[in-house]
Amino acid sequence: MATSLLRVPPPQGLLRPLAVPERLLLGPGPSNVPPRILAAGGRQLLGHMHPEVLQVMDEIKAGIQYAFQTQNRLTLAISGTGHCAMEAALLNLLEHGDTVLVAVNGMWGQRAADIARRLGTLGTAGQHRPGDSHLPLCFMQGLVQHKPSVLFITHGESSTGVLQPLEGLGKLCHRHGCLLLVDAVASLGGAPIFMDQQEIDVLYSGSQKVLNAPPGSAPISFSKEAREKMLRRKTKPPSFYLDMGWLANYWGCDGEPRRYHHTAPINSFFSLREGLAMLAELGLESSWERHRANCAQLCKGLRDLGLELFVKEEKARLPTITAVRVPEGYDWKDIIAFLMDNHAIEITGGLGPSVGKVLRIGLMGCNSTSDNVDRVLRALRDALGCCRRSRL
Ligand code: PMP
Repeated sequence: MATSLLRVPPPQGLLRPLAVPERLLLGPGPSNVPPRILAAGGRQLLGHMHPEVLQVMDEIKAGIQYAFQTQNRLTLAISGTGHCAMEAALLNLLEHGDTVLVAVNGMWGQRAADIARRLGTLGTAGQHRPGDSHLPLCFMQGLVQHKPSVLFITHGESSTGVLQPLEGLGKLCHRHGCLLLVDAVASLGGAPIFMDQQEIDVLYSGSQKVLNAPPGSAPISFSKEAREKMLRRKTKPPSFYLDMGWLANYWGCDGEPRRYHHTAPINSFFSLREGLAMLAELGLESSWERHRANCAQLCKGLRDLGLELFVKEEKARLPTITAVRVPEGYDWKDIIAFLMDNHAIEITGGLGPSVGKVLRIGLMGCNSTSDNVDRVLRALRDALGCCRRSRL
């Protein structure tokens, strides 16, 4: 018998069937994927340059234009998650020596500032009061003092459950020769945003929240002014994979014949197409109203349980993700584990600056239902009865 040359045996785990339990994902994302979108992602592959796939990409582009409320020609989906879109936005817009002003009111501003620093741009982080509706005034000073070419801000700060009003910010930025870059990963489809009317220059989101598709594709769009800034670059963007010139061509945004750039995650695109189709069928306004109503029901129920909402002002609350303070006498990890073990429901703790302070409950897309609100409230009532730590 021939002696095998293999020194590493086949892993035992891979010789067992894949295990995927049923769970209700009510954390800050991903949210559950409905059967229609699952089925789309499970369709047989086509080639990434086949006309049918290019057609799906065109439909995705139109779906993003609807969801973002924009006519921008340079609108596409990045092959990657929300972080990938954040990097794509920053590394295409910024060049060494540029100044970017980052609004930090939670985790995502911190991440954007980190990326900006890696790019060698003078990342000036501006701390501001979360949900401050006098935002333009608060940034006026930063715009005058630092003269940034880009201002980054998060619309739905998922780490704290804050919805950031954007009124007047685009206009203010443009008056100061600055572009406005907005992260709407956690808010798109759940709270109103109007890219063109609000004069947002770059907007991006993710597939796995309100759009209910698996993680792995990320809508993004660039205004004419943002495109012009990218065309004026003296150096190439530092990433080939995320080079917007190449991606614009592959997505048919530059009027040139489409060229191979990378093998697109075709099945992720099928899923994203269906997520956008479901949003288009429901209608943006109905989707916003659904998220508002279910969030209001959740907030009332949480208060009735004696819990304290993290964001006091109702209009500053993100309708997709609600943060509630960890009640006195409880460990947040016990509550989360209780919900998972006894109710197969995922909720999560805080993130970045809110770690240890809050529990976060997400109701996004198809998961935003009155029944799911009742389910998570029942599970939390049970947890509050069972998880109190006895005093030492
Ligand atoms: N921005 C916000 C506001 C988010 O909530 C998230 C994900 N939680 C991201 C960016 C990053 O997205 P991803 O995890 O898909 O990379």
